Amino acid sequence: MKHSVRALTFKYHGIARRELEAAGQIAVAAGIQEHQIVRLPDLKEAGKIRLPILSAMPPTYIPMRNSVFYSLAASYAEEVGVDMIVGGHNKDDTRSFADAAPEFFEELKQAFWIGSPILRERRTKIFLPLSMKTKVQVIKIASSLGVPLRLTWSCHRDGKGHCWHCDGCRARIVSFTKAGVLDPLRGPNRAGKIS
Ligand SMILES: [Zn+2]
Repeated sequence: MKHSVRALTFKYHGIARRELEAAGQIAVAAGIQEHQIVRLPDLKEAGKIRLPILSAMPPTYIPMRNSVFYSLAASYAEEVGVDMIVGGHNKDDTRSFADAAPEFFEELKQAFWIGSPILRERRTKIFLPLSMKTKVQVIKIASSLGVPLRLTWSCHRDGKGHCWHCDGCRARIVSFTKAGVLDPLRGPNRAGKIS
């Protein structure tokens, strides 16, 4: 079954500019109907708030990020009329972030249906096709489907290219290596090496 696809990218405090550019390029490559950038400059990373209770969370954690993102997606869904809100969280995300777990999204969908007669009537779902796949499995699937991995962006910094030193870059190197997939951004000579 073919779907008409619209994409939302959230421009929140601290997100790398290159990540936004990559989202736009992938949206164009995928031929989607519409790509909207939603600006949330005041959504701060918890690391800058420094509450002791959040000290165990990854440095990239943003308090209740997915509640905010998916509520905005639900608002958009109600307005334009969609049957499915799709999120790309993988199994590794659900281990680190409670608000990326499937049960959180099931309850959130119920809340949307209570709060929106339109979404309830459309039976608008939250679909997480990758939630049971690890990052390594996602790379394998992407490679087999011909996803333009050269357009993806994993670095937390905003350089010309990936820095290959930050957490995002190191996770990318490890995951591509474990998947046995050549990272088109690193090339054959640097595959598997953390510099
Ligand atoms: Zn990096």
